[in-house]
Amino acid sequence: MKSKLALLVLFCLVILPVAGLAQTAASKPKIAFVIHGGAGVIKKGTLEPKREAEFRQKLEEAVLAGYKALQSGKSSLDAVEVAIRIMEDSPLFNAGKGAVFTADGRNELDASIMEGKGLNAGAVAGLQRIKNPISLARKVMEKSPHVMMIGDGAEKFAKEQGIEFVSPKYFWTKHRWDILQEIIKEEKAKSKSVSEFRNPSDRNEIYGTVGAVALDKDGNLAAGTSTGGMTYKKYGRVGDAPILGAGTYADNRTCGVSATGWGEYFIRLSVARDISALMEYKGVSVQEAVDTVIQKKLQDLGGDGGVVALDKNGNVGISFNSEGMYRAYIGADGKPVVQIYKD
Ligand code: ASP
Repeated sequence: MKSKLALLVLFCLVILPVAGLAQTAASKPKIAFVIHGGAGVIKKGTLEPKREAEFRQKLEEAVLAGYKALQSGKSSLDAVEVAIRIMEDSPLFNAGKGAVFTADGRNELDASIMEGKGLNAGAVAGLQRIKNPISLARKVMEKSPHVMMIGDGAEKFAKEQGIEFVSPKYFWTKHRWDILQEIIKEEKAKSKSVSEFRNPSDRNEIYGTVGAVALDKDGNLAAGTSTGGMTYKKYGRVGDAPILGAGTYADNRTCGVSATGWGEYFIRLSVARDISALMEYKGVSVQEAVDTVIQKKLQDLGGDGGVVALDKNGNVGISFNSEGMYRAYIGADGKPVVQIYKD
C-alpha cells in the first residue's frame, strides 16, 4: 500500500510536470525570422569588397532587429516592419531611400504586408513622397477598410495617419541615377524607343527589393515586401511587391513568403500564393514548395528572381534562380546567417 502511495506521489510530483513541460515545448511554436535584400546577377568577385561588407552588415542589422523584436514578445508584423524599415532607410537596397529610377527619372515605390492569422493585408503602390512605404502598407491594413491604395490617394491617407513624408529628392542617389543613364544610353545605341521596356536582368544589381517573413511566439506568420520596382520601368508600372499572392503572402496554415525578381513573371505566376497552395493542397515542405515554383515554374516561363519563406513551424525555405540573392536568417543556434551567392 505504502509503495503504491509512493509511486503515486512520484508520478504527480515528477513525471506529470516533466511530461507537461515536454508537451509545452513541443506545442509552443518557435520564433523564426528571414529577410532578403533582392536578387540579381550578383556573381562572386563582381561586388567590391567594401560594398559587399556594407551589404552584409546591413542585412545582419536588419535580421537581428526583427529577431530581437520577436524575442521581446512583439508580433510577427512588428518584426517584419522594423527590419524592412532599416533596409528602406539604407541606400544599398532598391526600396525607400535607395529606390531605382523609372524611365522618366522618378522614383515610384510599392510595398505590401500580410498576416497569416486572419489573412489581413495592406498594400501601396506608386508612392513618391513616403519615406517608409512598409509602414503605410501596414496602416492600410490596420486603419482602412481597404487592402490596396495607390498614388495620390495613398499619400492623402498617409497624411491622415501621420506617416512621415520626404521630398521626392530624398530618393535621388548617384548610384541608381548612373544605372538609369547607362540603360538610356544603351537603349539609344540600339535605336530603340526609350520608353520600351526590356529585360534588364543581365545587369548587376538590377533587383534589390527588400522583404521579410516572421513567425512570432503566438504562432502567427507575417510577410512584407518593399521596392522601388525595376530600373527604367514605365510611368505607372506596378510590380509584384504590392500584389498579394505574387510578391507577398502569409497564411498560418502554410507559410509566409516574400519575393524579389522580375515582377511581371511573379505576378503572372502568382508566385507567393502558389507556394502556399502547394503546401496546402499537396502537403509538401516549404523548401520543396519554393523550389518547385522558382526552379521549375519561374525558370520554365523565363523569369528570374527568388523568394524567402517560413513555414508555420519556423522552417526556412529559400530559393532563387538568379546568380545571387541578398538574404539572412536566424539559424538554429540563434545566430544570424548572412548569404549573398549560391553557396
Ligand atoms: N520585384 C520587383 C519588381 O518587379 C523588383 C525587385 O525585386 O527588385 O518591382
